[in-house]
Amino acid sequence: MTDYLTGGCLCGAVRYSCSGEPISQGLCQCERCQKQSGSSFLIAVVYEGAAVEIDLAALKTYTASDTDGAALNRHFCGNCGSATMITLDRYPHIRSMMGGTVDDKSRLKPTFSLWCASGQPWLELPAAIELFPDYPDGLIA
Ligand SMILES: [Zn+2]
Ligand SMILES: [Zn+2]
Repeated sequence: MTDYLTGGCLCGAVRYSCSGEPISQGLCQCERCQKQSGSSFLIAVVYEGAAVEIDLAALKTYTASDTDGAALNRHFCGNCGSATMITLDRYPHIRSMMGGTVDDKSRLKPTFSLWCASGQPWLELPAAIELFPDYPDGLIA
């Protein structure tokens, strides 16, 4: 039996489901993810693209470059603005689902955090979460 992770945006216009287990789960504290989330980090739940079913019609996309100049696409609900998914030219085979949009938050088990060097100084993460000052290549997928 296949296990599904489901989620959606605040207004309900965007819904998705992901089959099986994620490749990885982590946090990103880079300045851009802080801006997009309006918070201290984004939660990335990373799946193979083939495992993700999502209706793209309700999504808008903001594309900017990552630190290496490759396109990084931030997909958000065109109605309520919820950050829902990130796709990357650098890792075209993955979909990074935003943990705040997951229905069952008990499924969230982040194991690392990226870009801790730009993190907000009051944030202390549990010891089980491995901290990286930047973005080690190959960590997320
Ligand atoms: Zn929405
Ligand atoms: Zn980030």
